[in-house]
Amino acid sequence: MLLFTPGPTPVPESVRQAMATPTLHHRTPEFEAIFKEARERLLELFGMDECVMLASSGTGAMQSCVLNLCQTKALTINAGKFGERFGKIVTAMGKELVELKYEWNTPASLDDVKKALEENHDIDAFFIQVSESAGGLRHPVEEIAAYVKLVNPEIMVVADGITAVGVEKIDISNIDALVAGSQKALMLPPGLAMIGLSNAAVEKIGSGVDYYFNLATEIKKQQQNTTAWTAPTTLIIGLNAIFDEIDKEGLDVLYSKTIARAKATQTALEALGLNIYPSTPAKSMSTVIDEDSEAIRKLLKTKYAVNMAGGQDHLKGKIFRINQMGLIPVNESVWVVNAIEMALADLGRRSFDGTASKTFNEVYFKEN
Ligand SMILES: *Cc1c(COP(=O)(O)O)cnc(C)c1O
Repeated sequence: MLLFTPGPTPVPESVRQAMATPTLHHRTPEFEAIFKEARERLLELFGMDECVMLASSGTGAMQSCVLNLCQTKALTINAGKFGERFGKIVTAMGKELVELKYEWNTPASLDDVKKALEENHDIDAFFIQVSESAGGLRHPVEEIAAYVKLVNPEIMVVADGITAVGVEKIDISNIDALVAGSQKALMLPPGLAMIGLSNAAVEKIGSGVDYYFNLATEIKKQQQNTTAWTAPTTLIIGLNAIFDEIDKEGLDVLYSKTIARAKATQTALEALGLNIYPSTPAKSMSTVIDEDSEAIRKLLKTKYAVNMAGGQDHLKGKIFRINQMGLIPVNESVWVVNAIEMALADLGRRSFDGTASKTFNEVYFKEN
C-alpha cells in the first residue's frame, strides 16, 4: 500500500535502519554529539537564530508558542482544523482571542488583519499556518507577517510550518517562531516537534512560562546540546538520518522536485476534469473537491493500493488530499494520478485513456 496521506508520511529505509540501533542514554557525550549535529542542521533548515526540539506532537509546539510568546491577546487565522486549533489553545491557556475565520479554501486577507490590528491595539501575538492542511491551502504568510511587523514590531509572529518546513523555502524575515513536526514533511515517525526562533522571540520568552513547555528552560539546555527532560533520542538520531537523505541531492533539489510534483499532479487531475479545492494551493498536498471523493478513495485503497486522506468536519466525504511532502519516488506519484483515472473509469465518469500519467509526465519532466 502506498502511503499518500499528508501526514504521516513514509519513513525512508535508511532512516528506519538508523533508528533501529540500541538505545543510547541521553545524558552522555555520545548523545550530546548527535544532538549538536541535529541542532546545527535544524538551525540551517529553519534559517533562524535559535531553535528547540520538543518531545511532543506538533500541537505541543503550538501550545508552547502560545504560552511563551503571547501574554495578553492573540490574533489567529482560522481557515481549517489547525488554525482553529490555535484559537482553542489560546482560549484554553486563558488568553484573549481575536479570530479571523475563513472557508477552508480561502486564504487570510491582509485587509482583515489590518482591521483587526486597528481595532485591537493590545494584540501581542499573531498565529497563522503557512500551509493549512485541512484544505491544502497556502496562506500569504510572508506578506501578512511583514505588515504585522510594520504596524508593531513587538507583536510576535508565530507561523505553523508543520506542512511547509521541508516543502518550500519560507521567507522568515518577519517570522519570530516557525513550527515543524516530525511526521509530515520531515518523514519521521510522530513524536518530535521543532521550533525555529528569532532573537526577538528569545528576548520575549525571557525566563519563560509553564513547566514542561517552558521554552526558556529548553533554550538554555539545548544551547548546551542537551534537553531539559528526557530527549526522544531515537527520533533525533532519525532526524540526522533524514538530513543525510536530503543532503544526497540537497535541500534546493527537494524543494524544486516537490514543486514540480505538486504542479504535475494538479495539472493531471485537472486534465481528468477534477476540481482543485483551495484557491491558493499549498505545495504540501493536492486537494480535490468531488462528490465521489469517498468512492474514489475506497477504490484507490482496495483496488489500486493507494492510501489518500479525505476531509474532516463539513468537508467529510467531499474532498480528498494527496501528499506531496518528502522524498517521493516520482513513479509513485505517477501511479497515484493513474489510479485516480482508473477509479473514475470504474465509476463510469470517463473512459480510461492514460490522460493522467501522460499529463503528469509531460509537466514533471519538462520541469526537471
Ligand atoms: C499535523 C499538523 C499539526 C500538528 O498536529 P499533531 O497531530 O499535533 O502533530 C499542526 N498544524 C498543521 C498544519 C498540521 O498539518
